Amino acid sequence: MSLWDKKLNKDVLFSLKENKNVDILIIGGGIAGLTALYYLKDKKNVFLVDAGIIGDGVTKNTTGKLTYLQNTIYTDLVHHVNKDTAQKYLKSQKIAIDLAKSIIEKEKINCHLEKVDSYVFTTKPKEIKKLKEERDFLLSQNIKVSENALPINLPAIYSISVEDTYVFHPILYTNHLKDLLKEKIFENTKIIKLKKEKDKYICFGEKIKIIASKVIVACHYPFFFLPFCLPIKSHIEKSYILTRKVEKNPKISAITVSNPGMSIRYYEDESGIYEICLACSHKTSIHQKDTKNFKTVQKIFNIKEDDIIDAWSNVDIITGDKLPFIGNINKKLYIATGFNTWGMTNGILAGYLLSRKVLEEPAPFEDLFSLKRNNFYQIKNFFPNIINSAISLISSKKREKDWYKSHLIFTKKNGKSIAIYTDKEGVKYTVFTTCPHMGCSLIFNELEETWDCPCHSSRYTKDGECIKGPSTKDIKYKE
Ligand SMILES: Cc1cc2nc3c(=O)[nH]c(=O)nc-3n(C[C@H](O)[C@H](O)[C@H](O)COP(=O)(O)OP(=O)(O)OC[C@H]3O[C@@H](n4cnc5c(N)ncnc54)[C@H](O)[C@@H]3O)c2cc1C
Repeated sequence: MSLWDKKLNKDVLFSLKENKNVDILIIGGGIAGLTALYYLKDKKNVFLVDAGIIGDGVTKNTTGKLTYLQNTIYTDLVHHVNKDTAQKYLKSQKIAIDLAKSIIEKEKINCHLEKVDSYVFTTKPKEIKKLKEERDFLLSQNIKVSENALPINLPAIYSISVEDTYVFHPILYTNHLKDLLKEKIFENTKIIKLKKEKDKYICFGEKIKIIASKVIVACHYPFFFLPFCLPIKSHIEKSYILTRKVEKNPKISAITVSNPGMSIRYYEDESGIYEICLACSHKTSIHQKDTKNFKTVQKIFNIKEDDIIDAWSNVDIITGDKLPFIGNINKKLYIATGFNTWGMTNGILAGYLLSRKVLEEPAPFEDLFSLKRNNFYQIKNFFPNIINSAISLISSKKREKDWYKSHLIFTKKNGKSIAIYTDKEGVKYTVFTTCPHMGCSLIFNELEETWDCPCHSSRYTKDGECIKGPSTKDIKYKE
């Protein structure tokens, strides 16, 4: 459970029980979808559906930084795409922070928005040059950049920092918007299929259908493959987070460009000051044990076992050129995805941009985030992404034989792979072990007792209920 999860509003809103005709349907109530709904709140026939509860997806497991200093993204974009793209991306992130601030101020959302300095640091001499390039790019864009030493006890040898960035409590933000917009939200309403019929989209739920003139897909990973083909345009990255209480809030957030990756921020409320430490980011296709990675985070940040308050992991979608996809799939079908672990700024920005697009108002950054962009940086990663998907697929099949022999029995029924898991109480759970989304073999996550897809991040409970997309189907096995 994440630090934010404790405050998640679990009072479930109504689910949709009958067919409905709407002008605009938003699928997914994370930071992106909910912010889109916020900007469309004055329009009459606009609704949002979420498969679960608002905020209870990737958003509740973020670290909640609102910053435009994102590793060395600008240097990467200058080198691999062009300077214009880097400039536009910087502008977009600054606008995103302004949008976040103005929503929070206007709606008086008490989500502990705090102005902090953002640092990027390195622990290796050979990376100093790249950080200096990032500094120079920012300076050339009239951003004030400091080279002060990182003011916390991490092995940084060089760092740069900027001033006008923030941290917040993402779930207090989503809770507030959920409350404000509850008349327009249906929870526990999963969309499993989209079909275009004439000029409308038919969105099929498990028992109902919604006919929509326009649809915004904001469900993190889209549940359909065509026509967008996200699996070949991205991979999944997973990271591990621990929190402990500390005496002082240094009012900074920091991230390293070095290996092992580290990121840190602080959160303060009436119960104390929390240090939020993240490390061990890896592609999910290269399976790693959660228990081992949490131990590594502990070691990197020197956290004693007894001091750990919260421990959680999270996944996000990494695109080839590190830019999100925000725009049209088809004429009246829109998507926001691929936030590259910067979905607080990009999710809020996506909500704003897509709300403008559906209303046919001018929306900036069309080319920057276009689904059709074809820069070489993006295309050159298609091949590794395909290889990566193949590795996930092949290694997940192999893993069945090697992993968790003591707790799991893998077998076949009617030619289909199943697994029987026996939990601590001796209760047995039988599930299919092939992900219904695209056929990858699922990995059992012993820490959280879930079945996780290493290819596209779908997740299932131990008894087979789908709790995270892109899959829309359960894997329950019945005799
Ligand atoms: C370790 C880690 C740390 C991060 N830290 C930061 C940070 O400090 N700053 C930052 O900017 N970003 C950060 N991010 C990134 C950020 O958390 C995500 O990009 C962002 O939360 C994604 O939001 P979302 O709205 O796209 O997805 P979600 O929050 O997952 O929302 C999607 C919603 O759609 C619903 N849904 C899914 N499928 C369906 C369906 N078929 N029908 C109906 N509903 C559906 C889900 O239930 C869910 O509620 C981090 C990411 C990671 C992995």
